[in-house]
Amino acid sequence: MGAWDFDVIVVGSGAAGLSAALAAAEDGASVLVAESQGIIGGSSRLSGGLMMGAGTRYQKALGIEDSPEALFHDYMTLNQWKVESAVVERLTQRAGAAVEWLGDHGVEFYDQMVYGGDETVPRVHCPIGRGQAVVDVLYARCREAGVEFALGQRIDRLVIVDGAVHGVAVGDDEITAGAVVVASGGFGANDEKRAELFPSVFDTGWSYYIGADGSQGDALDFTKDVNAQVTGYDRGLRLLHTDFDTMYEAYIPGWLVLVNREGRRFCNETAPYGIMDGLLAEQGDVAFAILDHRRLVEATELGVARYKQSIPGSTKRQSPHWNLDVFELMIKEGKVHVAHSLEELAGKIAVPVENLMATVERVNHLTEVGEDVDYLKDPKFLEPIADGPFYGVEVRPATCCFTACGLRIDRDANVLDSAGRAIPGLFAAGEVCGGVIGPRYVGSGNSYGNCVTMGRVAGQSAAAVAG
Ligand SMILES: Cc1cc2nc3c(=O)[nH]c(=O)nc-3n(C[C@H](O)[C@H](O)[C@H](O)COP(=O)(O)OP(=O)(O)OC[C@H]3O[C@@H](n4cnc5c(N)ncnc54)[C@H](O)[C@@H]3O)c2cc1C
Repeated sequence: MGAWDFDVIVVGSGAAGLSAALAAAEDGASVLVAESQGIIGGSSRLSGGLMMGAGTRYQKALGIEDSPEALFHDYMTLNQWKVESAVVERLTQRAGAAVEWLGDHGVEFYDQMVYGGDETVPRVHCPIGRGQAVVDVLYARCREAGVEFALGQRIDRLVIVDGAVHGVAVGDDEITAGAVVVASGGFGANDEKRAELFPSVFDTGWSYYIGADGSQGDALDFTKDVNAQVTGYDRGLRLLHTDFDTMYEAYIPGWLVLVNREGRRFCNETAPYGIMDGLLAEQGDVAFAILDHRRLVEATELGVARYKQSIPGSTKRQSPHWNLDVFELMIKEGKVHVAHSLEELAGKIAVPVENLMATVERVNHLTEVGEDVDYLKDPKFLEPIADGPFYGVEVRPATCCFTACGLRIDRDANVLDSAGRAIPGLFAAGEVCGGVIGPRYVGSGNSYGNCVTMGRVAGQSAAAVAG
């Protein structure tokens, strides 16, 4: 340790912060992690912890041929290049190694890979014990490596010495360091910031957040002193929501049929959630799920939600929204439209009658022939809409899963100022950054993969300048 209290201070103890802290310690730095909450892990511990990574030993063991270049290509194409390309290249090059690094440290993965979005080969790694297990392993390794932790310390200021960042402060209490890594997560829990920086979710009117309370976006305020640049306006992940309650349901059951305000189907209802977000945006962020009573009864009796996506280790359970008990309550609250004919239903949800009738006729025909020649939904999800009463439920992309507007970084995780220059001594990684997660969420594992991979990069960069 030189003139500073620590070589590196990390703000935030989620996957990005813990990865940065461990990587810095592995490079010989003395490290302090400051965490605003009384618990380690942020949204990362609530998370599925699914992680994208290409060319890993886990994929090879399953005979899956993949490469960082293929991941980079998929990532860039899906986002129409609207990301910080060099950062994404670094992320995709190192994501596989970061997954293996976790494995070397004791994170265990299911020996089954899943698709996170629309990639050509499965490249999403599923940790046994979900995000909490990853946090537990990283925290334990950090402690073994001598990393210190200060809980309940909500950083509100950077310590700046001769134009470089050399510490953090809570009120008048300053702690100094050779370099600082900001890994304080997103701002989903802060209504004001969600309205300002992620309006497309806030303006749905039913917006709510499923991540951790500590996601207040403090870093967007305390980095203003060094003129940090913010990028990625209005980005994050929006999941479909019914306005029934704030129960998190990442996917809708595959047997449901969605129609737009014109009363027409517009997509494969089992699309990955990153894609579904964009599909809903094209429809003005409103759609209606149309179903009949018989299918609802059958789904309820089955007792297990029929999602297309299945994650190893997740318990099979009833859909929290699409079952008879919930519907009975929601009908009383006026959140489910009920009609004895399709004509009546069209009137209640205010879509053109003839379109809705034609859509239902088409769905019933596709079900009969056993092939969705329109949107290619797996035939096992095709169900008729035939036996009244009929139901119409408005859905909007209102669940805020995480936010992606934040600090702009370069590929070494240096935070850039408004002119695009690296701010000496200041690094960032994870959900606090913008420009890495693009307008289209690449798929499950995009965010956690970013946190661990770029957290590690940030820790290494910080240790290098601090040492
Ligand atoms: C329910 C759920 C499931 C998810 N599943 C997946 C998934 O399977 N795969 C995937 O890729 N993504 C998933 N995501 C998203 C992903 O988990 C998060 O984006 C990611 O974990 C964020 O990690 P982070 O380290 O950047 O931030 P966090 O894990 O949120 O950690 C940031 C920490 O910083 C602390 N902090 C904030 N401000 C301050 C301050 N001023 N001073 C000190 N500390 C501060 C916070 O309290 C928090 O502990 C999921 C998200 C949720 C909510």
